[in-house]
Amino acid sequence: MSAKDRPYRRRTQLVHAGRDPSAQHGFINTPTYRGSTVLSPTVAHLKAREGYVYGTHGTPTTSALEDAWSELAGAAGTVLLPSGLAAIALALLSVVKAGDDILITDSVYRPTRNFCASVLARLGVTTRYYDPLIGAGIAELILPQTSVIFTEAPGSQSFEMQDIPAIAAAAHARGICVMMDNTWATPLFFPAHGHGVDLAIEAGTKYLSGHSDLLLGLVSANAAYFPQLRATFDAMSPCAGPEDVFLALRGLRTLELRLREAERQGLALARWLQGRPEVLRVLHPALADDPGHALWKRDFSGSSGLFSVVLKPVAQARVEAMLDHLKLFGMGYSWGGFESLVIPFDCSSYRTATTWAPGGPTLRFQVGLEDMADLQDDLAQGFGQLAG
Ligand SMILES: *Cc1c(COP(=O)(O)O)cnc(C)c1O
Repeated sequence: MSAKDRPYRRRTQLVHAGRDPSAQHGFINTPTYRGSTVLSPTVAHLKAREGYVYGTHGTPTTSALEDAWSELAGAAGTVLLPSGLAAIALALLSVVKAGDDILITDSVYRPTRNFCASVLARLGVTTRYYDPLIGAGIAELILPQTSVIFTEAPGSQSFEMQDIPAIAAAAHARGICVMMDNTWATPLFFPAHGHGVDLAIEAGTKYLSGHSDLLLGLVSANAAYFPQLRATFDAMSPCAGPEDVFLALRGLRTLELRLREAERQGLALARWLQGRPEVLRVLHPALADDPGHALWKRDFSGSSGLFSVVLKPVAQARVEAMLDHLKLFGMGYSWGGFESLVIPFDCSSYRTATTWAPGGPTLRFQVGLEDMADLQDDLAQGFGQLAG
């Protein structure tokens, strides 16, 4: 059954997309197919075989998630990769060639910069960074050899919003591919392809997993870019692990419920932090006084549970004492799981198109599903350490 046969609303799609119980003896979920060899009964069948030919070409498990994601994202097709960073790398490699120039937002996920500065630079692709707030002004940076404009909204760690439709209009006027790392909002809160994005990247490691127990990347493409995305994938076979794909399919069914709760919890903690005397500013585009709020409100239908705060100036040692004293907030990378996390960060050493000077130490919070009063109590006792 294709999406066209099932013109359902999103919550119904989330339940039914990518599933065909009749092909699984009636069992509700597609099981974890594992395998390399796929047998053919005759030479003629072997030669003419289409679809499942060999493990690297996909299995019913991977097709299920690809189809479901394409339906939710409004995409022509999706490929699955073993991590979000691998998804970013494949998206870029499916478009660039030697001699190209690409434009990337200065607020991008930091490992994306590393991929461009190492692999793409070696292949003769030049990367330039632009101010995430540039909007339609991106047109002035376009060169004849520019082939990609890469966006991410809100920005990693710093949460600047971007005017994606304005950037896409400027890019498409010059035949340039628009990519977006859409991990924060997911297609549920920002349907990237509907806003002009050609290739949309999702680190499934985050909310699609929801349980901090798998690594997965997805790239969805519109009809113009899917053939070259799939061909580049097939040329390399960077296959996602079958167990991770199965778990992601399982996570998909409750993605909207979990995102809505993450949004509620995130906003509750963000608002509480706004009222704390230790906090200078909360960086969260769904807050009415955030500089990116108007764009968020215009284009996004929700927010996730990840945001940052700027503390009032205080010695770094005091911030570290505060973090060391937290009991409920784990310290570690990644996000989108059920437990709350916090990390200190500082973008100032690697930004190149903009200056990062927030006015105090910065912390990024991932808000989990714990009782909000317990999270607030934990932070309140942590804040006690700031005074020394
Ligand atoms: C985590 C993350 C990635 C990378 O995902 P991995 O699966 O950890 O490689 C990419 N983009 C953003 C915005 C992320 O937060």
